[in-house]
Amino acid sequence: MDKIWSEMYEAARSVLNERRISDYVTCGEVAAAVVSKSGRIYTGVCIDTCSTLGICAERNAIFNMITNGENEIDKVLCILPDGSCGAPCGACRELMVQLMAGKYHDVEIMLDYKECRTIKLGEITPYWWIK
Ligand SMILES: [Zn+2]
Repeated sequence: MDKIWSEMYEAARSVLNERRISDYVTCGEVAAAVVSKSGRIYTGVCIDTCSTLGICAERNAIFNMITNGENEIDKVLCILPDGSCGAPCGACRELMVQLMAGKYHDVEIMLDYKECRTIKLGEITPYWWIK
């Protein structure tokens, strides 16, 4: 496995911390790490609210990347509560497509960390409305 994946996994695991922030907000049940084209790792956790104001861990990590002045994603990994990895939801895929229209196809996503199975964003979003 490429060393960057284990660095991403450890970075995401370091912020995985399920907790209740208030009567209305929980967070940290899922954590994500993205690697930008520059090679820097950005992390984020899911934030869940009682009125749909929250965000997925992947988008939180992507917004962290954007906050720090970068625009292009190279790899994405998210850790579920049981330690396994999963594919991004439709909203997160949509954000990546809109951020990288015309070049999102090669974004790599970790599907199964133990088996080191990855997939390209273009494979799971082959007929997106933005080419
Ligand atoms: Zn999502």
